[in-house]
Amino acid sequence: MLARLRFPVERSRGRRYPEPSHPYRDAFQRDRDRVVHARAFRRLEAKTQVFAPGLSDHFRNRLTHTIEVAQIARTVAHVLGLDENLTEALALAHDIGHPPFGHAGEAALNRQMRQFGDGFDHNLHALRIVESFEQRYARFPGLNLTFEVREGIVKHSKDFGPGEWPELEEYLPGQRPVLEAQLIDLADEIAYNTADLDDAFSAGMLTAEDVAASVPRYRAITDAVETQFPGATDRERFNEGLRRLIDELVSGLIEGTVESARRAGVGDAEAVRACPRRIAAYGEETAGTSAALKRFLHARVYSTPELGEGRERSMAMIAALFRFFLDRPDRLPQPYSDRAAAEPAHRVICDYLAGMTDAFCQRTFEQTAGAGG
Ligand code: MG
Repeated sequence: MLARLRFPVERSRGRRYPEPSHPYRDAFQRDRDRVVHARAFRRLEAKTQVFAPGLSDHFRNRLTHTIEVAQIARTVAHVLGLDENLTEALALAHDIGHPPFGHAGEAALNRQMRQFGDGFDHNLHALRIVESFEQRYARFPGLNLTFEVREGIVKHSKDFGPGEWPELEEYLPGQRPVLEAQLIDLADEIAYNTADLDDAFSAGMLTAEDVAASVPRYRAITDAVETQFPGATDRERFNEGLRRLIDELVSGLIEGTVESARRAGVGDAEAVRACPRRIAAYGEETAGTSAALKRFLHARVYSTPELGEGRERSMAMIAALFRFFLDRPDRLPQPYSDRAAAEPAHRVICDYLAGMTDAFCQRTFEQTAGAGG
């Protein structure tokens, strides 16, 4: 459908450190495989998405969320005729810069960094992971990913203009990322909106009727499910509704992107880059459904006291750890303690905390700041 907009792998701007090509895997397949083998990728398993583990063994963590994003993005790329390997590499990498404890962890680190006129951004952190923190190769630091994957990582969720991010000048400011990269944001949104409904249903925080009352398309879906499966359990009907909702959102993304490309009149991958707005988009009705889902989830899930309590606790833990290591940089493990001697300590501490899993963060807290030092 949009094969003309596929980014041709042979036109990649390549890797920072040139490498010979592989006999049967192209550059984007190799990037995908490198992400899967990264330690930061494996740590996603022990990082909270939205619901902390404990109450149920079935909540998403950041790894299972990532796999859901990858399958949605890959399906869309396949139907549209785009590069599935590039799409999958970006989907698998999209959250590797996330700190422990979901968005609470991100907000806590950002707040600490603000005191130093700095900040924490999980996309920039992901770039630092793939550029230097991963140590897997004898010949170069990081994963040595292609330009397009690195660019997609830094442009996940936002584009930037010339001069806005001095450290990102090489990533074509003012240009859109390739269409494969543009899909990730929306695939991410479909995955988390529907997964958070599912997890919140499992946690007993909402019913199908609650969702239907706020999301008109969901009302239509759940009415159809009721008619078709009158004897099914609530859980079965909820699952039926959820898979139909995912299907509608994905179809709306496919159709919306085709329509958006037609309206923009883009003829190839270079035109996608030069276009003043992103091409990947939902159709109009799907955009409304997605926005309604977000509003509903904010009101009924994210801002509830059930989640708020854990959020406060994890933010306080990160703040305490941050202060502890500022006072005692000698307690940082290698190589962070070395780095702290040469770089601003707050930056090094932020990198150390951001890489932690939830459990490691908790354990470190108990052994340091939480134990009175
Ligand atoms: Mg995500």
